[in-house]
Amino acid sequence: MAENIRVRFAPSPTGKVHIGNIRAAIFNWLYARHVGGTFLLRVEDTDLERSTPEAIEALLDCMRWLRLDWDGEILYQTSQRAHHLEVAEELLRKGLAYKENKGGQGECVIFRMPKEGVIEYDDLVKGHMKKKAKDTQDFVIVRSDGSPVFHLANVLDDITQGVTHIIRGDDHVENTFKHIMLFRALGAPVPRYAHLPMIVNAAGKPYSKRDGSAFVGEFREQGYLPDALFNYLALLGWAPGDDRELMTRDEMVQAFDFAKCKASPARFDMRKLTWMNGEYIARQPRPAFEAEFDARLDRAGLPRTPLNGHRDALLDQIQPRTKTYADLPANCAWFFAETYPFDDKAVAKRLHAPGTPDLLDQAAAALGPLPDFSPQTTEATITALAESHAAKLALYVHPIRVAVTGRAEGPGLFETLWLLGRERTLARLRDTAAKLREGTL
Ligand code: GLU
Repeated sequence: MAENIRVRFAPSPTGKVHIGNIRAAIFNWLYARHVGGTFLLRVEDTDLERSTPEAIEALLDCMRWLRLDWDGEILYQTSQRAHHLEVAEELLRKGLAYKENKGGQGECVIFRMPKEGVIEYDDLVKGHMKKKAKDTQDFVIVRSDGSPVFHLANVLDDITQGVTHIIRGDDHVENTFKHIMLFRALGAPVPRYAHLPMIVNAAGKPYSKRDGSAFVGEFREQGYLPDALFNYLALLGWAPGDDRELMTRDEMVQAFDFAKCKASPARFDMRKLTWMNGEYIARQPRPAFEAEFDARLDRAGLPRTPLNGHRDALLDQIQPRTKTYADLPANCAWFFAETYPFDDKAVAKRLHAPGTPDLLDQAAAALGPLPDFSPQTTEATITALAESHAAKLALYVHPIRVAVTGRAEGPGLFETLWLLGRERTLARLRDTAAKLREGTL
């Protein structure tokens, strides 16, 4: 039975791939791989204005990036046009459809819906679904310009391609009642349906580009890893039923089950995705991390060679702390360039207290004569300095970090000082103190 399961991802390419859309691809893929079935890619390219070759390429690119490999050739909907129109004729001949002149623009072909009874089906995610026939309406299947409408093309392709399970967003639930009647009219078995819950924002409204990044390309650009995005999107509407969240592809394929899919809306949580991405970055093999790291430095116009050597040591510190690659250049500029940007918030929070310039000067004076600049030595020195002023260590640590890196977060402070070296550390402490006194920071 399993090998006969055929699913398809049937996007209408528009140039940008929405996460809701690709989540449908992910669920189709997971289910097909779980049951050892077939995962088809059908490009619903009937909207010739939007389905340009570029839009189709953007879609394929996105599928490849996420390693959503499909089985067999790509199926293009427009190639089936003649067949779609033939079948519409057949429905007309059988009296299951009729012609009507809509708005004086020519004749459309209209499919006849039942006038009584109920249309019902069991949704693999939403459970039993039904609609009274009297609440449905006849609908156009061929437009007056002779082009087949989505409903007809979509159902016919599913029949021709032997699709057994239709997994798609629940914005299609209403269409499903129409489609079921089309399958029946055409004497074809009605496939199983799984309608995936809507992806919503924190307010429970459909997640859109106004809520933040909504297209796969944007996540890619911002330095999210495809495996992290895949993992996160797989959990929007599905959970393995235990506490697992970080899962490999194989684990997800194994555990995937419609019985564990939720019908309630799935909230898109950027912070969780970012956390997950950080976990994936931390586990990346170093060469992969390094390649992306370098690419980001290049694009930011930063040299690849640090000011003070210690590149591997920096990578050891940075890799487990990186949440997205987009953050990298700003997070590391202090290490690669003499002039580094200061984060406004960090400056306001850590450097604007009245005594800060003096405190930075004290630190420079204490660190200057040290015999070595190891993290242990600098830590002992700053600890002693804080004690001698009856102050907490944190009172020194935070301003020093912002002074020498421009950032509130990063590797441990004493590792940071060692990475920078004595000369640069002292210069930066004094420079920052001077700028604060001048009021230029
Ligand atoms: N082209 C339709 C869409 O992208 C297909 C829906 C379906 O999967 O049947 O919404």
